[in-house]
Amino acid sequence: MANSSPEDRESRLIIVIDGPAGAGKSTVASRLASRLEIPYLDTGAMYRAVGLLAIRDGLEPPLDEGASNRVVDLMNRHRIEVEAADGGTTILVDGRDVGEDIRTPECSLMASAVSALAEVRKALVPLQRELGLQNGGVMEGRDIGTVVFPDADLKVFLTASVDERARRRHVDLSERNLETSLEEVREQQQQRDLQDTSRAESPLQVARGSVVVDTTGLTLDEVVERLFEEVVRIR
Ligand code: C5P
Repeated sequence: MANSSPEDRESRLIIVIDGPAGAGKSTVASRLASRLEIPYLDTGAMYRAVGLLAIRDGLEPPLDEGASNRVVDLMNRHRIEVEAADGGTTILVDGRDVGEDIRTPECSLMASAVSALAEVRKALVPLQRELGLQNGGVMEGRDIGTVVFPDADLKVFLTASVDERARRRHVDLSERNLETSLEEVREQQQQRDLQDTSRAESPLQVARGSVVVDTTGLTLDEVVERLFEEVVRIR
């Protein structure tokens, strides 16, 4: 991107937001993208779509290395399509919008399990790079600043206390009528955090040069404003 014209650079601005589950990445990323009128790409939705295929095929976490071929085979037999717009990411499996189906707690855990498989990342990361390079955007996930776009224009690591993240996720699930106890949400979140930070393949880490924002006690508007200021600074 260093050799592109200012106009090109502007239109292909790449902002990455990584962080643990429940830190507020999705809402913040989608709001920021709308404000900047650039696409929003939720990369977690892609791993969730693969997780959904695995669940439908009868797999259960934890997955052993032997599950890798089976999951890759599922990815080859089914069509996963992603559309990134400034309002949100649409994800289709075999032409059907699975936006709701991928948000269950069961699918969260399975997404985390399949995302630890090297072959799954090998298939999805190039797709994420392609989508980012085409139109730029706000890209959100776990390894976007460390692996997918280490040279992004702006790298952000969003975090929040364990209690705050569990509380937010619990509210989110309740709003979707997916009733679980706060304690259960917290336990699943810790399990996912542990898997995501300790895996061999692209573990969740703070990318070098990231702006780290702890969103505990901040409102959504305050976080978006904070990030918008960072974007203004680099423009
Ligand atoms: O962001 P979200 O919670 O929807 O992601 C679901 C799971 O997908 C995460 O727990 C993580 O294991 C995986 N993921 C990943 N790399 C990304 C995005 C998500 O490994 N870039």
